[in-house]
This record gives sequence, C-alpha cells and structure tokens, in this order.
Amino acid sequence: MSEDSEPLGCLGFILKLFGIDLGQWGGSASGMARLPYRLRDDFLSPAELSFYRVLQAAVGDEWAICCKVRLADLFFVPRGDGDTAHRNRIDRKHVDFLLCDPRTMQPRLGIELDDASHNRVERQERDKLVDDVFDAAELPLLRIPAARTYQKPQVIALVKGALADTPRESLPETTTDAVPVCPKCGVPMVRRTASKGRNQGAEFWGCANYPHCRQVVQV
Ligand SMILES: [Zn+2]
Repeated sequence: MSEDSEPLGCLGFILKLFGIDLGQWGGSASGMARLPYRLRDDFLSPAELSFYRVLQAAVGDEWAICCKVRLADLFFVPRGDGDTAHRNRIDRKHVDFLLCDPRTMQPRLGIELDDASHNRVERQERDKLVDDVFDAAELPLLRIPAARTYQKPQVIALVKGALADTPRESLPETTTDAVPVCPKCGVPMVRRTASKGRNQGAEFWGCANYPHCRQVVQV
C-alpha cells in the first residue's frame, strides 16, 4: 500500500468512501494494470477453523500455532543426498497445522485433519509419504479425524500424547581428529571458527547443510 502513490489523493479517498475504486482503471501512477491476485475467503475451511479454535483454547500460550505450512519450509534434503527428486516430492505439500516453541518457533508437532478425502487411494499414498517424511525428520505428526465439533479435553490429551512421544535429541561428542558425520544429516561436517558470541575464535565442527542444519560437534 505504502509503495503506491495515490494520484487522486484526497479525491480518491472520498471516492473510496463511496465505494468507488479507481484502481482497476489503472489509477496507479505507473499506469500498470492491476495484477490478478485476489484474497481467498476460504483460507481455512469450516472444519479447519473449528479445529483451530479448539486447538488454540487447548494449547493457549504454551505453543505457537501455524496454519498450512509448506513441507519444504519445514524439511530439507541434506546436500550429498543427491537428486532433487526428494525435494520435488514434498514441493507442493503442506501440513494443516504446526505447533512451534513460542520462543524459538522451532517446530515440535505437525497436525493433520483427516477428512473423508483421506480415504481415496491417491490421498492415502500422499498421506503415507507425508507420514514417512515426518518420520525421517523425527518430527511427530498427529492425525486427527475431521469432525463436526471437537472437545477441548480430547484435543489436549491427543496433543500431549503426541508430544510425549517426541524423541530426545542426543548430541554425540567426538574426541578424535577424524571428521565427524552430522548425526542429523549423515554428511561429513565442516571445521569452522566461531566468528562471534561467547566462543568467538573457538573451532568447532558445523554441518555442511548450515543454516538448515545447526548441528554442532566440539573439536
Ligand atoms: Zn546436519
């Protein structure tokens, strides 16, 4: 909004008050036609919105809720693990909801609402892939059958149960001079020097996939 100049200024504002929009007539200073983007009114389906409200009441401030997150924003394929096929497989896929640590926004739990479409064969194949991707990346995924209404205690119990299954991250320490392998990605790590912070100047092994992977092993 702020980038566009308003050639009609005050008049344009008055026209807008009366519901007259000159924008579609190329009213912007550049004379460019209006781009064909319109805001969707169904960002969340009624079922998703209904579940979102209960989820929000259930988790409160404890977790940040993200809606419709692209799998490609959640997961990465480590370098060296080759072809772009793995990347392409998740390229256009989303998870319905994601619970993140509200301080760091680190993803902790994916939630999928399974409606009737999940019974279709191609949908089941898609679900299986998504399950496997979450599994490989060790991010728990909770599947909840779509319902007309949701009960808060039931959602709390499901979320708590799924979070309890979260595997604890273990950081193996290496004491040899050999190049360690990133415990998360399975690729050889890279020797780096901390450029800032408390450990400035200190050497460490960092993952070759940084910044997607921030795994560190002490030298
Ligand atoms: Zn890594």
